[in-house]
Amino acid sequence: MRSFKVTAFGGALADTQSETPVPTGTQVLLKIAACGACHSDVHIRDGFFDLGSEGRMDLSRGVPLPMTPGHEIAGEVVALGDAAAEMLSVGDTRVVYPWIGCGTCETCASGDEQLCRKPRNLGVNVDGGYSDHVMVPHPRYLVPFDPMPITEACTYACSGLTAFGALKKLGTLGEGDPLVIIGAGGVGLAAVRLAESVTGVAGIAADISSDSREAAMMAGARDVLDPSAPDAMRNFVKGTGGAAGVVDFVGSAESARFGFDILRKGGSLVIVGLFGGSLVLPVPHFPLREVTIRGSYVGSLPEFHELMDLARSGRFGPVAVETRSLDQADATLYDLKDGRVSGRIVLVP
Ligand SMILES: [Zn+2]
Ligand SMILES: [Zn+2]
Repeated sequence: MRSFKVTAFGGALADTQSETPVPTGTQVLLKIAACGACHSDVHIRDGFFDLGSEGRMDLSRGVPLPMTPGHEIAGEVVALGDAAAEMLSVGDTRVVYPWIGCGTCETCASGDEQLCRKPRNLGVNVDGGYSDHVMVPHPRYLVPFDPMPITEACTYACSGLTAFGALKKLGTLGEGDPLVIIGAGGVGLAAVRLAESVTGVAGIAADISSDSREAAMMAGARDVLDPSAPDAMRNFVKGTGGAAGVVDFVGSAESARFGFDILRKGGSLVIVGLFGGSLVLPVPHFPLREVTIRGSYVGSLPEFHELMDLARSGRFGPVAVETRSLDQADATLYDLKDGRVSGRIVLVP
Protein backbone atom coordinates (compact mmCIF):
# COMPACT_ATOMS: atom_id res chain seq x y z
CA MET A 1 0.00 0.00 0.00
CA ARG A 2 1.02 3.58 -0.54
CA SER A 3 1.22 5.91 2.47
CA PHE A 4 2.45 9.42 3.16
CA LYS A 5 4.37 9.17 6.42
CA VAL A 6 6.07 11.41 8.94
CA THR A 7 9.59 9.97 9.05
CA ALA A 8 11.32 12.89 10.81
CA PHE A 9 9.59 15.68 12.72
CA GLY A 10 9.71 18.99 10.91
CA GLY A 11 10.43 17.33 7.56
CA ALA A 12 8.26 16.66 4.54
CA LEU A 13 5.96 13.63 4.46
CA ALA A 14 7.59 10.64 2.78
CA ASP A 15 5.82 8.86 -0.09
CA THR A 16 6.19 5.19 0.91
CA GLN A 17 5.19 1.74 -0.34
CA SER A 18 4.65 -1.18 2.04
CA GLU A 19 2.94 -4.55 2.23
CA THR A 20 -0.83 -4.18 2.73
CA PRO A 21 -1.54 -5.71 6.17
CA VAL A 22 -3.89 -8.68 6.67
CA PRO A 23 -6.50 -8.30 9.43
CA THR A 24 -6.70 -10.86 12.25
CA GLY A 25 -9.09 -11.27 15.19
CA THR A 26 -11.42 -8.27 15.40
CA GLN A 27 -9.39 -6.17 12.94
CA VAL A 28 -10.94 -4.62 9.84
CA LEU A 29 -9.00 -3.45 6.78
CA LEU A 30 -10.50 -0.47 5.00
CA LYS A 31 -9.70 0.74 1.49
CA ILE A 32 -9.67 4.49 1.98
CA ALA A 33 -11.83 6.64 -0.28
CA ALA A 34 -11.47 9.95 1.58
CA CYS A 35 -9.34 11.41 4.39
CA GLY A 36 -9.78 14.95 5.68
CA ALA A 37 -6.68 17.09 6.27
CA CYS A 38 -6.76 18.63 9.73
CA HIS A 39 -4.69 21.42 11.21
CA SER A 40 -3.50 19.09 13.97
CA ASP A 41 -1.79 17.01 11.26
CA VAL A 42 0.54 19.99 10.87
CA HIS A 43 1.48 19.74 14.55
CA ILE A 44 2.00 16.00 14.21
CA ARG A 45 4.35 16.54 11.26
CA ASP A 46 6.18 19.30 13.18
CA GLY A 47 6.31 17.21 16.37
CA PHE A 48 5.23 19.89 18.85
CA PHE A 49 2.57 22.28 20.06
CA ASP A 50 3.47 25.87 20.91
CA LEU A 51 2.83 26.56 24.62
CA GLY A 52 3.77 30.24 24.50
CA SER A 53 5.96 31.27 27.45
CA GLU A 54 5.95 27.63 28.64
CA GLY A 55 7.86 26.58 25.51
CA ARG A 56 6.79 23.61 23.41
CA MET A 57 4.83 20.45 24.10
CA ASP A 58 6.92 17.69 22.60
CA LEU A 59 4.83 15.14 20.70
CA SER A 60 7.73 12.88 19.80
CA ARG A 61 7.10 10.42 22.66
CA GLY A 62 3.46 9.79 21.75
CA VAL A 63 3.97 9.72 18.00
CA PRO A 64 6.20 6.78 17.03
CA LEU A 65 7.93 7.28 13.68
CA PRO A 66 7.46 6.48 10.91
CA MET A 67 3.75 7.24 11.26
CA THR A 68 0.97 7.91 8.73
CA PRO A 69 -1.10 10.92 9.82
CA GLY A 70 -4.76 11.47 8.92
CA HIS A 71 -7.68 10.86 11.25
CA GLU A 72 -10.76 11.84 9.20
CA ILE A 73 -11.05 8.54 7.37
CA ALA A 74 -13.84 6.91 5.40
CA GLY A 75 -13.73 3.96 3.05
CA GLU A 76 -14.83 0.48 2.13
CA VAL A 77 -14.31 -2.74 4.10
CA VAL A 78 -12.04 -4.99 2.02
CA ALA A 79 -10.94 -7.64 4.56
CA LEU A 80 -11.95 -8.75 8.05
CA GLY A 81 -10.45 -10.84 10.85
CA ASP A 82 -12.42 -13.96 11.89
CA ALA A 83 -13.90 -12.27 14.97
CA ALA A 84 -15.11 -9.24 12.98
CA ALA A 85 -16.90 -11.18 10.24
CA GLU A 86 -20.26 -11.32 12.04
CA MET A 87 -20.41 -7.55 12.54
CA LEU A 88 -19.47 -6.28 9.07
CA SER A 89 -19.21 -7.47 5.48
CA VAL A 90 -16.74 -6.83 2.70
CA GLY A 91 -18.11 -3.95 0.62
CA ASP A 92 -19.65 -2.05 3.57
CA THR A 93 -18.73 1.64 3.57
CA ARG A 94 -18.00 3.28 6.91
CA VAL A 95 -16.51 6.36 8.53
CA VAL A 96 -13.89 5.63 11.20
CA TYR A 97 -13.98 6.83 14.82
CA PRO A 98 -10.22 7.47 15.18
CA TRP A 99 -9.98 8.45 18.88
CA ILE A 100 -9.35 4.89 19.98
CA GLY A 101 -8.08 4.05 23.47
CA CYS A 102 -6.68 0.88 25.01
CA GLY A 103 -10.24 -0.50 25.14
CA THR A 104 -9.77 -2.08 28.58
CA CYS A 105 -9.29 0.67 31.21
CA GLU A 106 -12.05 2.31 33.27
CA THR A 107 -12.01 5.44 31.10
CA CYS A 108 -12.54 3.38 27.94
CA ALA A 109 -15.24 1.28 29.67
CA SER A 110 -17.08 4.50 30.61
CA GLY A 111 -17.25 5.45 26.92
CA ASP A 112 -14.60 8.20 27.04
CA GLU A 113 -11.98 6.42 24.92
CA GLN A 114 -10.77 9.78 23.63
CA LEU A 115 -9.40 10.45 27.15
CA CYS A 116 -7.65 7.08 27.59
CA ARG A 117 -4.09 7.33 28.94
CA LYS A 118 -2.89 4.68 26.50
CA PRO A 119 -4.26 6.10 23.26
CA ARG A 120 -4.18 4.26 19.95
CA ASN A 121 -5.58 7.22 17.99
CA LEU A 122 -5.45 6.58 14.25
CA GLY A 123 -3.18 9.07 12.53
CA VAL A 124 -1.65 10.17 15.85
CA ASN A 125 -0.29 7.14 17.70
CA VAL A 126 -0.83 4.48 15.02
CA ASP A 127 -1.02 4.68 11.22
CA GLY A 128 -3.94 6.71 9.90
CA GLY A 129 -5.50 7.81 6.66
CA TYR A 130 -2.90 9.54 4.46
CA SER A 131 -2.81 6.22 2.66
CA ASP A 132 -4.88 3.95 0.45
CA HIS A 133 -5.57 1.48 3.29
CA VAL A 134 -6.00 1.64 7.06
CA MET A 135 -6.32 -1.05 9.73
CA VAL A 136 -9.04 -0.49 12.33
CA PRO A 137 -8.84 -2.63 15.50
CA HIS A 138 -12.55 -3.41 15.89
CA PRO A 139 -15.83 -2.98 13.94
CA ARG A 140 -17.24 -0.88 16.79
CA TYR A 141 -15.18 2.07 15.54
CA LEU A 142 -16.83 1.95 12.12
CA VAL A 143 -20.03 3.96 11.69
CA PRO A 144 -22.43 4.07 8.72
CA PHE A 145 -22.82 7.40 6.94
CA ASP A 146 -25.21 6.81 4.02
CA PRO A 147 -26.80 8.72 2.31
CA MET A 148 -24.07 11.33 2.81
CA PRO A 149 -21.26 11.68 0.23
CA ILE A 150 -18.11 9.96 1.53
CA THR A 151 -15.99 13.11 1.15
CA GLU A 152 -18.32 14.91 3.57
CA ALA A 153 -18.82 11.98 5.94
CA CYS A 154 -15.11 11.69 6.76
CA THR A 155 -14.99 15.27 8.10
CA TYR A 156 -17.37 14.35 10.92
CA ALA A 157 -14.68 12.18 12.56
CA CYS A 158 -12.68 15.21 13.69
CA SER A 159 -14.00 18.63 12.73
CA GLY A 160 -17.66 17.63 13.08
CA LEU A 161 -17.12 15.62 16.27
CA THR A 162 -14.85 18.25 17.82
CA ALA A 163 -17.50 20.92 17.21
CA PHE A 164 -20.24 18.63 18.53
CA GLY A 165 -18.30 17.60 21.67
CA ALA A 166 -17.51 21.24 22.52
CA LEU A 167 -21.06 22.51 21.97
CA LYS A 168 -22.49 19.65 24.06
CA LYS A 169 -20.46 20.91 27.03
CA LEU A 170 -22.49 24.14 27.03
CA GLY A 171 -25.77 22.25 27.53
CA THR A 172 -29.05 23.72 26.32
CA LEU A 173 -29.16 27.48 25.86
CA GLY A 174 -32.22 29.72 25.68
CA GLU A 175 -33.07 32.58 23.33
CA GLY A 176 -31.56 35.11 25.74
CA ASP A 177 -28.29 33.19 26.11
CA PRO A 178 -25.79 34.45 23.54
CA LEU A 179 -23.46 31.79 22.12
CA VAL A 180 -20.21 32.96 20.56
CA ILE A 181 -18.09 30.79 18.29
CA ILE A 182 -14.54 32.14 17.96
CA GLY A 183 -12.73 31.18 14.76
CA ALA A 184 -14.74 30.37 11.65
CA GLY A 185 -12.19 28.01 10.08
CA GLY A 186 -12.95 24.36 9.35
CA VAL A 187 -14.00 23.29 12.85
CA GLY A 188 -15.57 26.63 13.76
CA LEU A 189 -17.75 26.54 10.66
CA ALA A 190 -18.83 23.02 11.60
CA ALA A 191 -19.87 24.42 14.98
CA VAL A 192 -21.81 27.22 13.31
CA ARG A 193 -23.70 24.59 11.29
CA LEU A 194 -24.36 22.37 14.32
CA ALA A 195 -24.99 25.01 17.00
CA GLU A 196 -28.77 25.32 16.81
CA SER A 197 -29.36 21.55 16.71
CA VAL A 198 -27.04 20.94 19.68
CA THR A 199 -27.59 23.95 21.99
CA GLY A 200 -30.92 25.33 20.83
CA VAL A 201 -29.51 28.66 19.64
CA ALA A 202 -27.60 29.79 16.56
CA GLY A 203 -24.10 31.10 17.25
CA ILE A 204 -22.52 34.50 16.77
CA ALA A 205 -19.26 33.94 14.89
CA ALA A 206 -16.17 35.97 15.86
CA ASP A 207 -13.32 36.01 13.37
CA ILE A 208 -10.68 38.56 12.38
CA SER A 209 -11.06 37.64 8.69
CA SER A 210 -13.94 39.18 6.74
CA ASP A 211 -13.98 36.16 4.38
CA SER A 212 -14.42 33.83 7.35
CA ARG A 213 -17.17 36.02 8.79
CA GLU A 214 -18.95 35.86 5.44
CA ALA A 215 -18.57 32.07 5.36
CA ALA A 216 -20.03 31.92 8.87
CA MET A 217 -23.09 33.90 7.83
CA MET A 218 -23.58 31.52 4.89
CA ALA A 219 -23.27 28.56 7.30
CA GLY A 220 -26.08 29.87 9.51
CA ALA A 221 -24.51 32.21 12.07
CA ARG A 222 -26.99 34.52 13.79
CA ASP A 223 -24.52 37.39 13.58
CA VAL A 224 -20.77 37.99 13.20
CA LEU A 225 -18.22 40.20 14.88
CA ASP A 226 -14.59 41.16 14.39
CA PRO A 227 -12.72 40.62 17.68
CA SER A 228 -9.83 42.80 16.46
CA ALA A 229 -12.08 45.84 15.98
CA PRO A 230 -11.60 48.66 18.50
CA ASP A 231 -13.89 48.16 21.52
CA ALA A 232 -15.15 44.82 20.13
CA MET A 233 -15.34 43.34 23.61
CA ARG A 234 -17.06 46.33 25.21
CA ASN A 235 -19.55 46.72 22.36
CA PHE A 236 -20.48 43.05 22.47
CA VAL A 237 -21.03 43.02 26.22
CA LYS A 238 -22.97 46.31 26.08
CA GLY A 239 -25.17 45.04 23.25
CA THR A 240 -25.89 41.54 24.56
CA GLY A 241 -25.16 41.49 28.30
CA GLY A 242 -22.29 39.10 27.64
CA ALA A 243 -22.03 35.55 26.34
CA ALA A 244 -23.56 32.59 28.17
CA GLY A 245 -21.30 30.27 26.24
CA VAL A 246 -18.16 30.73 24.16
CA VAL A 247 -16.30 28.09 22.20
CA ASP A 248 -12.79 29.08 21.16
CA PHE A 249 -11.73 27.17 18.06
CA VAL A 250 -8.53 29.22 17.66
CA GLY A 251 -6.89 28.55 21.02
CA SER A 252 -4.40 31.42 20.97
CA ALA A 253 -3.65 33.66 23.96
CA GLU A 254 -5.62 36.46 22.26
CA SER A 255 -8.67 34.41 21.30
CA ALA A 256 -8.97 32.76 24.71
CA ARG A 257 -8.61 36.11 26.44
CA PHE A 258 -11.31 37.60 24.21
CA GLY A 259 -13.57 34.64 24.99
CA PHE A 260 -12.99 35.07 28.71
CA ASP A 261 -13.58 38.82 28.62
CA ILE A 262 -16.95 38.60 26.85
CA LEU A 263 -18.45 36.04 29.28
CA ARG A 264 -21.36 37.17 31.36
CA LYS A 265 -21.70 36.09 35.00
CA GLY A 266 -22.05 32.33 35.15
CA GLY A 267 -20.82 31.96 31.57
CA SER A 268 -18.60 29.17 30.24
CA LEU A 269 -15.64 29.27 27.89
CA VAL A 270 -14.74 26.00 26.17
CA ILE A 271 -11.27 25.98 24.60
CA VAL A 272 -10.79 23.67 21.64
CA GLY A 273 -8.23 25.26 19.31
CA LEU A 274 -4.55 24.36 19.50
CA PHE A 275 -2.93 27.46 18.05
CA GLY A 276 -0.86 27.83 21.23
CA GLY A 277 0.23 30.45 23.69
CA SER A 278 -0.38 31.01 27.37
CA LEU A 279 -3.02 32.89 29.29
CA VAL A 280 -2.72 35.13 32.38
CA LEU A 281 -6.06 35.93 34.00
CA PRO A 282 -7.27 37.95 37.00
CA VAL A 283 -8.10 35.25 39.55
CA PRO A 284 -10.92 37.19 41.35
CA HIS A 285 -12.98 37.03 38.15
CA PHE A 286 -13.55 33.32 38.73
CA PRO A 287 -15.36 33.66 42.08
CA LEU A 288 -16.89 37.10 41.46
CA ARG A 289 -18.32 36.26 38.02
CA GLU A 290 -18.61 32.52 38.62
CA VAL A 291 -17.22 31.82 35.18
CA THR A 292 -15.93 28.47 33.97
CA ILE A 293 -13.08 27.67 31.61
CA ARG A 294 -12.76 24.15 30.38
CA GLY A 295 -11.20 22.28 27.50
CA SER A 296 -12.75 19.90 25.05
CA TYR A 297 -10.90 17.20 23.12
CA VAL A 298 -12.66 15.73 20.07
CA GLY A 299 -15.62 13.67 21.34
CA SER A 300 -16.56 10.23 22.62
CA LEU A 301 -17.61 7.18 20.60
CA PRO A 302 -21.24 7.46 21.86
CA GLU A 303 -21.20 11.15 20.84
CA PHE A 304 -19.93 10.15 17.40
CA HIS A 305 -22.85 7.74 16.94
CA GLU A 306 -25.27 10.47 18.07
CA LEU A 307 -23.67 12.97 15.69
CA MET A 308 -23.72 10.61 12.70
CA ASP A 309 -27.41 9.79 13.33
CA LEU A 310 -28.20 13.52 13.22
CA ALA A 311 -25.99 14.09 10.17
CA ARG A 312 -27.54 11.19 8.24
CA SER A 313 -31.01 12.59 8.86
CA GLY A 314 -29.91 15.72 6.95
CA ARG A 315 -30.13 18.02 9.98
CA PHE A 316 -26.93 19.93 9.26
CA GLY A 317 -26.95 20.52 5.52
CA PRO A 318 -23.97 19.79 3.28
CA VAL A 319 -20.32 20.36 4.31
CA ALA A 320 -18.31 22.43 1.83
CA VAL A 321 -15.20 20.41 1.02
CA GLU A 322 -12.38 20.78 -1.49
CA THR A 323 -11.05 17.44 -2.68
CA ARG A 324 -7.40 17.00 -3.60
CA SER A 325 -5.33 14.03 -4.64
CA LEU A 326 -3.48 12.22 -1.84
CA ASP A 327 -0.28 13.19 -3.72
CA GLN A 328 -0.85 16.70 -2.40
CA ALA A 329 -0.85 15.65 1.28
CA ASP A 330 2.38 17.44 2.16
CA ALA A 331 1.59 20.60 0.18
CA THR A 332 -1.82 20.68 1.84
CA LEU A 333 -0.25 20.66 5.30
CA TYR A 334 1.87 23.67 4.31
CA ASP A 335 -1.27 25.42 3.07
CA LEU A 336 -2.95 24.71 6.42
CA LYS A 337 0.12 25.88 8.33
CA ASP A 338 0.31 29.13 6.41
CA GLY A 339 -3.42 29.84 6.78
CA ARG A 340 -4.11 29.54 3.03
CA VAL A 341 -7.11 27.23 3.56
CA SER A 342 -10.68 28.19 4.25
CA GLY A 343 -13.03 25.28 4.88
CA ARG A 344 -12.15 21.59 4.66
CA ILE A 345 -9.74 19.78 2.38
CA VAL A 346 -10.31 16.08 1.78
CA LEU A 347 -7.55 13.93 0.29
CA VAL A 348 -8.58 11.19 -2.12
CA PRO A 349 -6.16 8.33 -2.88
ZN1 LIG B 1 -8.43 16.76 13.45
ZN1 LIG C 1 -8.25 2.94 27.88
